[in-house]
Formats: sequence, C-alpha cells, structure tokens
Amino acid sequence: MIHLKEIEAKSILTKTRVPAGDYVINPYIGCPHKCMYCYADYMRRFTDHAEKWGDFIDIKHYAGKIPIRRLAGKKILFGSSTDPYNPFERKYRVTRSLLAQFAGTNIAVQILTKSDLILDDLDLLEKIPNCTAGFSLNTLDDGIRRALEPRAPSIERRLTAARKLHAAGISTYLFLSPVFPGITDFREILTACRDFTGTFYFENLNLRGAYRPAVLAYIRENHPSLVPLYDDIYRRKNMEYWRIMEKEIGAFCRKHDIKYGSYFYHEKIKKA
Ligand code: SF4
Repeated sequence: MIHLKEIEAKSILTKTRVPAGDYVINPYIGCPHKCMYCYADYMRRFTDHAEKWGDFIDIKHYAGKIPIRRLAGKKILFGSSTDPYNPFERKYRVTRSLLAQFAGTNIAVQILTKSDLILDDLDLLEKIPNCTAGFSLNTLDDGIRRALEPRAPSIERRLTAARKLHAAGISTYLFLSPVFPGITDFREILTACRDFTGTFYFENLNLRGAYRPAVLAYIRENHPSLVPLYDDIYRRKNMEYWRIMEKEIGAFCRKHDIKYGSYFYHEKIKKA
C-alpha cells in the first residue's frame, strides 16, 4: 500500500553535482519501485513521511515555467531520486508536463528510468532533439531482478522499450547500476544490448546507506559463496575488485568498439 500525497512544488529544478547533469528534475518524491539497494532512501529525511522509502509518493504539481533560456548549454537529468516513469505517471503525467516544456529546445535532456511507460511519451521525446533515454539494470536474470527490485518492470520490458526507442531514432543508454560484485555480468549485458544502446554507463554498488543490512542479508541467503568477496569489499574496504573490473570494462569496450562511461566511486567524486 502506497501512501500518496499531492503537493504544490515551488521549484522543480535542482542544481546537482551528479556526473550526468547540471540540474536534476525529480517529478515525484519517493519511488514505489522500492529497490532493495536504493541510494535515494536518504531523501526520506527531507519529507514528513513516517512510511518507509518505497511506501509513499508525493505527486509534485508545478505551475511555474522552467527557465529554458537560462538552461542553454546545460544538462538536465530527469530522475535522480525517483523513477520519472513510476506507475503513478500513467495517471498524473507530471513527467510528461515537465518534459513538454523542453519540446523544440536544444537543451540536453537525459531521462533515467526502469519503466517501459516512457514509450507513452515517444511523441514528446521526438520533439526534443538533444534527448537521451536510458534504463538502469544490473542483471539479465529476472529472478535476481525480482529479488532486488520487486516492484520494478521486468528486464525484458526495459530492453524491449530500449529497442523501440532506438528504432524510433531516440538516443539510448543503459546504466549498469549498481554493479553487484559477483552477480552483475557486464560482458553478458553489453553483448546482448549493444545493438540498441548508444552508451553504457557503470556505477559500483556502495553500501553506505540504511539498505546495507538488507543487501548483505540477501547475499548471505541467496549467494553464500559470495560472502567472502562482500566481506573483502565492504568490511575490509578492499577496492581491488573495482579497480580490476573498471580495467576489464575499458578493455572490453575498446575491443568491441562500445561507447561507455564509468561512474565508479561516484560518491568520492561527489565529495571532491
Ligand atoms: S527505481 Fe531508482 S529511485 Fe526508484 S527505488 Fe529503484 S533505485 Fe530507487
């Protein structure tokens, strides 16, 4: 059961230091996809919700105009702490109404989602020439997806949507995030998806949020052979696994002529 509230948003653009944008737009507060590893759960502190992260959503109504002229040359990311195409978008169309303000402009708009609901806005995306649409995933195994992201659309639905967007001429990317040690097989994902993906981005799993115990319990119960690896990375803070993987990703992408970007250690970049 999701606790829903409709709120008037005084502002909608937030300056950010996430690598993908200069500003972020989060059309909702909260995210019903409730992924086990969700980094955005810290957002709950800034709300008056008693419910857990994933069990509430605030629908933002924004009556203002986005200052399009001021955004010339800037990058806008839709969806840094919510999924802009969560199931409530079907009724409220907040993302659509905000995106519509970018139609006919050349502003770089990047959308990040886990949902094929984005296809409802294909007509609009086609009117934003500098728009890029991306899906996050970290496995092709829908059993693992169900455990980690129980309420999010299946992997197949995401990939089918990415294929359709690509076929329609929309620039696409896949965000392998968070990469789970010993579970995310980046070679398998890149090989399966390269034909319809413009760029692949990568972000490593960090376990600094309140979700840490849940993720470690999941590993203990479902992937016991990986416990020593997770101990090494998350208790002894050994970064060697990530260094090696980052090199392997680079080598694989260069060999297969795949465009990629690494957001590994993003939390450190943010601090810097
Ligand atoms: S889709 Fe993104 S914002 Fe939503 S719960 Fe999952 S990780 Fe968090």
